[in-house]
Amino acid sequence: MTQSVNHHPSISLLELYCDGSLNAEVALLVATHLDYCPHCQQLRHDIETDLGAQLAASTPASQDLHSADWLEMLNSIVATPQLPRTAASPAQSAEQLIQIGSYQFELPRSLRRVASKRSKWLSMGGIATARLPSGEPHHASLLFIDKHTDVPLHTHQGLEMTLVLAGEMVDENGHYVPGDLIINSPDDTHKPRNISDEPCLCLSVLSAPLQFKEGLTRWLNPLQRFFY
Ligand SMILES: [Zn+2]
Repeated sequence: MTQSVNHHPSISLLELYCDGSLNAEVALLVATHLDYCPHCQQLRHDIETDLGAQLAASTPASQDLHSADWLEMLNSIVATPQLPRTAASPAQSAEQLIQIGSYQFELPRSLRRVASKRSKWLSMGGIATARLPSGEPHHASLLFIDKHTDVPLHTHQGLEMTLVLAGEMVDENGHYVPGDLIINSPDDTHKPRNISDEPCLCLSVLSAPLQFKEGLTRWLNPLQRFFY
């Protein structure tokens, strides 16, 4: 059974995405959420229509003569249906699947190219991470949580943004399925857990290292380096 997405980006985050002011890592997270979420795809369409109208209204007077053309062009861009998907080339098919141990996951479209440039997987217990190309201070990575596995309790020095790509997980605040976006600030302490019989794959964006709250003290620093 497909479960519907319940945790969405805020309207202000979608607005920043639409006007291109997000950094690349957070924009990737929002774009990937959109792959899963018809609700936010509609909101993006509405925001882009508004932005287009604002842009048209602020066009300098010298261009007024062309404003009818300008509006017509904007309307046609907004109204143009997306091109149908063409048959995937072998390179594309390789990008759309990801293998972790004995598990295979299909990646959403927005993530395929960047995920193909991931660094090698590092694993600890039932958890594995692979860094994606990203710029300071944001770190983007794929995070794999095996079935019946907990991520140690931690808090955040910056923002932690997690998008579930496959499987499901829970923490103190809810239950998350593919497409759900979870944003934790420095005030939040949580312990993500995969309590299901299926493995979970997430996209994670951190703006600062996590701070772990449990486990043997000598393991806390390596754990921190593992995640960031
Ligand atoms: Zn959404």
